[in-house]
Amino acid sequence: MPDAIQITGLRKTYAAQGNAPAKDALKGVDLTIRAGSIFGLLGPNGAGKSTMINILAGLVNKTAGKVSIWGFDQDVNPRQSRAAIGVMPQELNMDPFFSPRASLEVQAGLYGVPKSERWTDELLALVGLTDQGNAYARNLSGGMKRRLLLAKALVHRPHILVLDEPTAGVDITLREMLWKNVRRLNEQGMTIILTTHYLEEAEQMCDEIAIINHGQVVVRQSTQDLLSRTDGKTLVLDTGGAVPHPPLPAGARPETRPDGRLAITYPPSRLRADQILDAVRAAGVPILDVAAEQPDLEDVFVELTRD
Ligand code: ADP
Ligand code: MG
Repeated sequence: MPDAIQITGLRKTYAAQGNAPAKDALKGVDLTIRAGSIFGLLGPNGAGKSTMINILAGLVNKTAGKVSIWGFDQDVNPRQSRAAIGVMPQELNMDPFFSPRASLEVQAGLYGVPKSERWTDELLALVGLTDQGNAYARNLSGGMKRRLLLAKALVHRPHILVLDEPTAGVDITLREMLWKNVRRLNEQGMTIILTTHYLEEAEQMCDEIAIINHGQVVVRQSTQDLLSRTDGKTLVLDTGGAVPHPPLPAGARPETRPDGRLAITYPPSRLRADQILDAVRAAGVPILDVAAEQPDLEDVFVELTRD
């Protein structure tokens, strides 16, 4: 099996427009995504995620670099590379006069899917739009439109499904439905690439993660390795009300939480919890209760994208 995606030296400069100066949205990105994974592309607003995805989708022209999709160079084999990927875009762009069924048929036509190989009814069922199949798209709720976009991305049964912020602003039911579908498609062999603002979601869903910032990949690791990357644990002590910060071993950082608890962050590679607790007790501070906190993806993300 080829790599799902191979990107080398990818650059994108948006030309100056009116008062807006030219913008280097991607500044030389190298990224390989292996087939079969659920890959998370994370980064703050404006990092270049959508630009990268839209280049993969063939919606935005790259300025420089090489993009291969399922082993097909985008510039050498544009048709094959396009057929290998389905993209659910961030923007809700659809023709208000087409019903979901018609939208799917039109999309299948665009991809040259023969009538006998279409799976329109199954797709409508998959995304829970069977009852709305013949309704006008303009009468669909925002959530239904998103589900239709997912179905549209799947008409040609691509090897790779790309979801750009699929759960931004959607309710919990739709979010769960989306993730259930994504998991099932992945189990059936589809490679999934997604961007999301919800780091908890990425932590739960993705095997591998790349974080991009200012148009560059700052890290690319398995989710597990990424999470163990920050050398910081936190002990949160209930001291019966806010207290002055006690003297602590070097490397430990105290902070008073809004609820009055004393949070002490320390590097577990160099300090043990009992050294912290001994220091607190030695300062005469009572310890009524202790909770331990592990770093989550949010902490890693903040650390890596801090300017
Ligand atoms: P993200 O999806 O990570 O939020 P984008 O790829 O949408 O980031 O944007 C990356 C940068 O490129 C931002 O500074 C954005 O303002 C700029 N940008 C995006 N699309 C365009 C465009 N069509 N024309 C000019 N600048 C753009
Ligand atoms: Mg975006």
